[in-house]
Amino acid sequence: MKKPPHVLSVKDAWYLTPNMIRVVFAGPELNGFPSGRDGGNCKLIIPDVGESKTQFLERLQNGHTPIKRTYTVRKFDESLQELSIDFVAHGDEGPASRWARHAKACDFLGFMGPSPAKVTEFNADWYLVCADPSAIPVAAVALEAMPRDAKGIAVFEITAPEDRQDIDAPKGIEMHWLIHPDPHTPSTAQIDFIKAMPWPEGRVQTCIAGESSVIRALRDFLANDKHVPRADTYISGYWKIGLVEDQHQQAKRDESA
Ligand SMILES: Cc1cc2nc3c(=O)[nH]c(=O)nc-3n(C[C@H](O)[C@H](O)[C@H](O)COP(=O)(O)OP(=O)(O)OC[C@H]3O[C@@H](n4cnc5c(N)ncnc54)[C@H](O)[C@@H]3O)c2cc1C
Repeated sequence: MKKPPHVLSVKDAWYLTPNMIRVVFAGPELNGFPSGRDGGNCKLIIPDVGESKTQFLERLQNGHTPIKRTYTVRKFDESLQELSIDFVAHGDEGPASRWARHAKACDFLGFMGPSPAKVTEFNADWYLVCADPSAIPVAAVALEAMPRDAKGIAVFEITAPEDRQDIDAPKGIEMHWLIHPDPHTPSTAQIDFIKAMPWPEGRVQTCIAGESSVIRALRDFLANDKHVPRADTYISGYWKIGLVEDQHQQAKRDESA
């Protein structure tokens, strides 16, 4: 039987940048949270608007289908026992984005996971990191974990110049910030950039995630033009324009079937 979700409480929430909200969770529910999972993903169960904690807990126990969304552990601070998750603020249409936009101390949600971290081994000649806002958390964790003498290129596609974040990347990683003001419209900014840049010599490892059609173009380029072995790539579609998460996950399953 699956373990019941933990119900986590918000300690604080604020706009990290104009389109990104950091929510910090704290409290006894985080006792025993595993270490070394920054960059792993988790499932968040989003309460209905106006639902009390008691109603939410009852609903979880009665097995009513909850709204689940996938997010990344941005940071678990063991000394403070605090968990940070960064949410793209993309409007009130998505339940997770809406929840985060209104989150304040003592709010709550259900939490399942975390999975192991996505990128843990760094033994390539250079690294290619590409991320839209939904993947900045996983990309930032990977860049922070890299050996300090790592070299490579990181391409971030953000909504506004002010969405740039300070990331503690190795000095040898060139950081590029591309602006795509309307994330609800398709973009070729990342693939155009990657195709135009000089391709460094040697073995590359990737950490790439974001909107699915962008990811498809990048995956095709890496596999067909650059012959990068799959084992050296973390590349994943995190969401898709026009689809809610369950539809997007189903589309991914259909594609790989
Ligand atoms: C492994 C993994 C890790 C992820 N980690 C993070 C993370 O740390 N932070 C994060 O913000 N997201 C992350 N995502 C993406 C997140 O799961 C999706 O963006 C999810 O759809 C958000 O749920 P929602 O309820 O806000 O919107 P949904 O109800 O799923 O969608 C509603 C509408 O919003 C659109 N939409 C969804 N996401 C975005 C977006 N980012 N920008 C613009 N429009 C969007 C959809 O196309 C749809 O039209 C991750 C996804 C995966 C698979």
